[in-house]
Amino acid sequence: MEEAALRLKELLFPSIADIEVLSVDVDIEIVRVDAQCTTVGAACPACEVWSTRVHSSYLRFPADAPSAGRSVVLQLRVRRFRCGNTMCTRRTFVEQISGLTRRYGHRTERLRSTLAAVGLALAGQAAARLAAVHALLKAGHSRRSVQRQLGMSWRTVKQFADVATPEELFTGQ
Ligand SMILES: [Zn+2]
Repeated sequence: MEEAALRLKELLFPSIADIEVLSVDVDIEIVRVDAQCTTVGAACPACEVWSTRVHSSYLRFPADAPSAGRSVVLQLRVRRFRCGNTMCTRRTFVEQISGLTRRYGHRTERLRSTLAAVGLALAGQAAARLAAVHALLKAGHSRRSVQRQLGMSWRTVKQFADVATPEELFTGQ
């Protein structure tokens, strides 16, 4: 999994050093990539005082982020910082990621093919899960039981059970 995350970081953010891929969740129809900035803080846009005090974070789905159909979803964990400057009118501010999303916009085409490659890279992982589902079903376990044992959603188990090869997971509609 760690290897896949590193590979994804290289593919998705080749020129952005301070982005880390936190997790990659492979479902039947969706590859969900969870990423966040790794900088320890951010400068307040109002007073420019640096802050490392994270107030909260939320998930953002950049509109112009790469997506190959609906097969890949990038979710960016965006942090809200507290401004420590008592003279400042802003108490909190959100870290800037507009530069990041703008960079995506210019490279949509290239990213589309990149994501196809990511899909292939992850197909190996899907194959392992597919094999696990089929092995358990063959051994007489119910789909509910497989779902519980592998920690998958009901829908995932059903779709895994209904296909014969991992390729069908990615190319089948
Ligand atoms: Zn401030």
